[in-house]
Amino acid sequence: RELPGDPRTDSTPREVVGACYSKISPSAKVGKPELVAWSESVAELLELDPAEFQRPDFPAIFSGASPLAGGLPYAQCYGGHQFGVWAGQLGDGRAITIGELVNSRGGRWELQLKGAGKTPYSRFADGLAVLRSSVREFLASEAMHGLGIPTTRALSLVTTGELVYRDMFYDGNPKQEPGAIVCRVSPSFLRFGSFQIHASRGGEHHGIVRLLADYAIRHHFPHLENTHESEASGNKYAEWAMEVAERTASLVAGWQGVGFTHGVLNTDNMSLLGLTIDYGPFGFLDAFDPSYTPNTTDLPGRRYCFANQPDVCLWNVAQFASTLSAAKLITEEEANQAMERYGDKFMEDYKSIMTRKLGLPQYNKELVSKLLTNLSVDKVDYTNFFRRLSNLKAASADMDEKDLLAPLKAVLLDIGPERKVAWISWVKSYVQELVSGSVPDEQRKAAMDAVNPKYVLRNYLCQSAIDAAEQGDYDELRRLLKVVQRPYDEQPGMEKYARLPPAWAYRPGVAMLSCSS
Ligand code: AMP
Ligand code: MG
Ligand code: MG
Repeated sequence: RELPGDPRTDSTPREVVGACYSKISPSAKVGKPELVAWSESVAELLELDPAEFQRPDFPAIFSGASPLAGGLPYAQCYGGHQFGVWAGQLGDGRAITIGELVNSRGGRWELQLKGAGKTPYSRFADGLAVLRSSVREFLASEAMHGLGIPTTRALSLVTTGELVYRDMFYDGNPKQEPGAIVCRVSPSFLRFGSFQIHASRGGEHHGIVRLLADYAIRHHFPHLENTHESEASGNKYAEWAMEVAERTASLVAGWQGVGFTHGVLNTDNMSLLGLTIDYGPFGFLDAFDPSYTPNTTDLPGRRYCFANQPDVCLWNVAQFASTLSAAKLITEEEANQAMERYGDKFMEDYKSIMTRKLGLPQYNKELVSKLLTNLSVDKVDYTNFFRRLSNLKAASADMDEKDLLAPLKAVLLDIGPERKVAWISWVKSYVQELVSGSVPDEQRKAAMDAVNPKYVLRNYLCQSAIDAAEQGDYDELRRLLKVVQRPYDEQPGMEKYARLPPAWAYRPGVAMLSCSS
């Protein structure tokens, strides 16, 4: 480091004012890097020959120990509201982009190593990542993509051969864990906070918000470049704010549909492109519980619990929109329109998703809300319930009451007589709707099974893969990856991955995680 404080090379944590990023190279200590898993699906996206993964220098490059030829590594400056409070500068504290790759279709993909060492944005932390959290991010990225939900992707998982100190929250004692590095892949890692940080620094920094907005629109929203006076607003920034709001709304509707809870919906974890980003203490619902909060840091407030996600993301969109209006790119009225658009788009998508999950001819608010109440009262497994539901037949309308629940027996466990009454009543109204839709049972089942996953990345499955990986056995991780990449397919022999969590899954550290995982 020849020039202390030089933002291009010096990783000393500090305020980086007047810049959107710092040039910085990976610096994590890497003893013996080993490639333990990769995604063939991302390799295809990048048009990487499978043979690339066998290259002896692959683990060194994808742990940051060797530079990527032609790459220009950097870390981003961003800020954010954490749990509703403005936190100032955050930035890529442990993520370093190593370069961009343009495929033959013109797709531009940024490659980013997570856990490759300190950056100017590392604040008090070490810039590293442990195997446990890297396995989670790697699997979750690919599982979400398999579910059809927009997300950053994960190309590879490399262990560093080094140990990293971590405070495990459940016993408070520092523990050493194996270090690992995920290579994340996305068209962009820009966040709401990437814009907020500059607006927050006062009027003389508003020009940076505009520059960054122009960059983002040119590269990631090119269809808005030539917004004309004749269009609704005549203001490309307003059109852009609307589209960001819409994408965010669709994303959240998708999460609610599959029972995904992000865990840390701070504005620095909100992707400008409407992608799921920054997998930390996330979780998929097992038993349906609107207040499900996988993040221990979020207790007892439960700001980011499952049912709050649509509202907190509206709050986040409001922060983004007000950043743009503070920087005079849009008016306050346009900011309000973006927020309204979010609400409309969320409801539109959510209704359509729930309608398809239920295989209904049209949305039925009462039926959906009664179902969610029933699921929550009886703690029914969210994933398995919807997967089973497609086995109901429209002809059951003529059935005897006591046989109505038979197709759902495997998912309605331990239901007492009085709750049976509630379920029979719901199934009766449901079947009535099916009859009115008059879609053949087989056809409806196929359509429902294409939107109701059989396999989601349940926490306990992830934990089993982590436990084995920490013993140096990566087979379970690779098997689980294959299963969650095709969540809607029946996969003979893989049924155990659709099972309910075992008792051990409720121990701390499995059911719940902290922010700093
Ligand atoms: P997160 O809660 O994971 O979104 O992280 C919030 C902020 O903390 C981001 O700026 C991260 O880059 C930073 N951060 C988290 N873990 C580390 C770490 N081990 N080293 C450096 N920075 C970190
Ligand atoms: Mg983050
Ligand atoms: Mg993080």
